[in-house]
Amino acid sequence: MSNASVIDCLQGSCLCGAVTYQISSRPKAVTHCHCTMCQKQHGAAFATYASVPKPDFRYLSGEDRLTSFRSSNRVTRKFCSVCGANIEWHGSSDYPDWVSFTLATLDMPFTSYKAKHVHLASKVCWLDQPAS
Ligand SMILES: [Zn+2]
Ligand SMILES: [Zn+2]
Repeated sequence: MSNASVIDCLQGSCLCGAVTYQISSRPKAVTHCHCTMCQKQHGAAFATYASVPKPDFRYLSGEDRLTSFRSSNRVTRKFCSVCGANIEWHGSSDYPDWVSFTLATLDMPFTSYKAKHVHLASKVCWLDQPAS
């Protein structure tokens, strides 16, 4: 089995299971985002996202359960309206053809990615300093 076909199998889901998705290329640009919008949306110190080209991200079920929230001029965030799980955001002016999904909603084991901490200027004071 080639690496490509392993990637073909990568699927994820929300907390309640209504929303499922599949990615068909290797995720790139894995980040732990410490921006205040991610903190608010996730209710957590930071959010971990990875990105794939838009055509490589496909909903398998529950797309009608997603609620969209426009968190800034361009960026739209989507979450499950049943359980509140954050699934994706897109609309970056720098990468208009990419979608970023929440890495922690993946259901399958995958090769670990090197993750970068971004927007550390707004890091919460109660989080231990990240290694990078
Ligand atoms: Zn859900
Ligand atoms: Zn963020």
